Amino acid sequence: MTPPPPVLAVRRVSRVYGGVPALNDVSLTIREGDFVAVLGPSGSGKSTLLNIMGTLDRATSGTVELAGQDVAALTDRQISTLRSRHLGFVFQHFHLIEGLSATENVTTGLLYSGIPRRRRRPMAREALAQVGLAHREHHLPHQLSGGERQRVAVARALVNRPALVLADEPTGALDTVNGQAVLKLLSDLNSQGTTIAVITHDRTIAGLLPRQLEILDGRLVADTGPGAAGMDLEPLDAQS
Ligand code: ADP
Repeated sequence: MTPPPPVLAVRRVSRVYGGVPALNDVSLTIREGDFVAVLGPSGSGKSTLLNIMGTLDRATSGTVELAGQDVAALTDRQISTLRSRHLGFVFQHFHLIEGLSATENVTTGLLYSGIPRRRRRPMAREALAQVGLAHREHHLPHQLSGGERQRVAVARALVNRPALVLADEPTGALDTVNGQAVLKLLSDLNSQGTTIAVITHDRTIAGLLPRQLEILDGRLVADTGPGAAGMDLEPLDAQS
C-alpha cells in the first residue's frame, strides 16, 4: 500500500533575493505526527523557509507540496484556500486583535474555512478548552498574561484542525516559565496528534523536540534527533 503523502514536502528549494540566495537547495519533509524544530542563527534563512513552508512566498526554484498539492500549480487564491484548510500559524508576538475577546480571536482562525458562522463559536470554545483557557473566554487580550495570550494564539492556530502548525519563535516574547508552559502545551498537542514545526534560534528549545532541522547560510545542514527522517529523499522518489 502506498503511504500517505507527507504533510509538507520541500524539494530542492531555493529563494533568491536580488541575485543572492537566502535559501539554497533545501529539501525536507514533514510527516503526520512530527514535532520538529527548524533551528538556525539570525540571518540563516529561517524566516524565508517559514514563508515558503507556510505558502506565504513562492520558491525561486524547486517544489513545495502541501497535503500532496504542488503549490506552484495553484493561483494565489487557491493557495490561500489550501493554506487556511491545512496550516495554522503561531507568531512570536501573538498577533491577537485587541478589542476582540479570546473566543472571538480564536474564531478568526476560521474566517476562510468555509465553516458556517454559527459553528465557529462552539469550535473556538472547544479550542480554548484544549489549551486550558475555557475560563478566559470573554477576556480581552490586554486582560490576559503573555503566556495566556500565546495560548489563545495556539487555540486560533488549532481551531481548524490543521495538518500542520507552524510556530515562529513561539516563546520568544515570553519569560522562561511561560515559555516552558507554551512548549509543554505544544508537546501535549503533538502527543494528541497535532503535527507541529517550531522555528527557533534557540538550541536549548530545539533540543527539547524529537527532531531538529538545522539551517545555516540558507542550507539545510542537519536533520537529527530520534524523530529525524534522514536527509535523503529516496522514499519520496520511490513513490513517483
Ligand atoms: P532568519 O529568519 O534566519 O534571521 P532570513 O530568512 O530573514 O533569516 O534571512 C536570510 C537572508 O536573506 C539574510 O541574509 C537576509 O538579509 C536575506 N533576506 C531576507 N529577506 C529578504 C528580502 N525581502 N530582500 C532581500 N534580502 C532578504
